[in-house]
Amino acid sequence: MIFKSKSYLTIDDSASERMDDLVDYLYSKNIPAIFFCRGDMLDKNTSSAIRAVQKGFVLANHAYSHQRASQQIYDWIVAEIERTENILENIYALAKVKKSGKYFRFPQLDRGTAGWIVDYDVYDGDVRDDLLKTFAQGLNVQSMDRPSLDAFAKKEALQNYLKQAGYVQPFLDITKPWYQLGEVTTACDCLYTFSNCDWMITERHIGKWPYKTLQDLKDKARSDVSLTGAGNVNVILAHDQDEIIDVTIDLIEDLVENGMEFLPIL
Ligand SMILES: [Zn+2]
Repeated sequence: MIFKSKSYLTIDDSASERMDDLVDYLYSKNIPAIFFCRGDMLDKNTSSAIRAVQKGFVLANHAYSHQRASQQIYDWIVAEIERTENILENIYALAKVKKSGKYFRFPQLDRGTAGWIVDYDVYDGDVRDDLLKTFAQGLNVQSMDRPSLDAFAKKEALQNYLKQAGYVQPFLDITKPWYQLGEVTTACDCLYTFSNCDWMITERHIGKWPYKTLQDLKDKARSDVSLTGAGNVNVILAHDQDEIIDVTIDLIEDLVENGMEFLPIL
């Protein structure tokens, strides 16, 4: 057994044309998951989203058109979140399933401060190194410039909006040391602790990033000490995108076959 830990499975960018295939796979293996959905994709593939809800999966908010929060103004971002939340409510109503909590993940994990996902300055030592490895290397980060004070203020305003609107994190007892420190403990949006980096082998990214093959991505997970370590609890990020559904399924299968247990979402 390689993976002696447990994880929450989070899947971004639904609903793809192939969401049904992914949902059928997860359902057949009894793997719980939360899908962070783009509003524009929900509008395109509404029936797949309804079907996922009816099969017991949780649908959550990933904004309407997947823009970076650092490049948009506050009012526009809030409108995107609210528009998507309304679509989600409608989907749950059509599915005749009671909606669970309100959960949100920023597109590209840009929380208003671009590649500076959390304020790295307030962490140090191994914790800072692990944060940078988790976020700066796991995402399509274009710049690691320290954000302006305005950007920090927008990030705080967005967190305040999410808080008053009732957004929470559905993950309990995450064991990463940085998950129990500083701003991460009070965040009202959903972060992750391990990116499977499936997006690095999509057509427009392949060859430009450290992981170039399916085997590279399997090895990334198999060599991650937090995923292999007994008793650990992680939040895994995967994607629901047409061109990588087979990759996504293969990577989840490799985790499950080698001992990973996936936890139910609240
Ligand atoms: Zn996304």
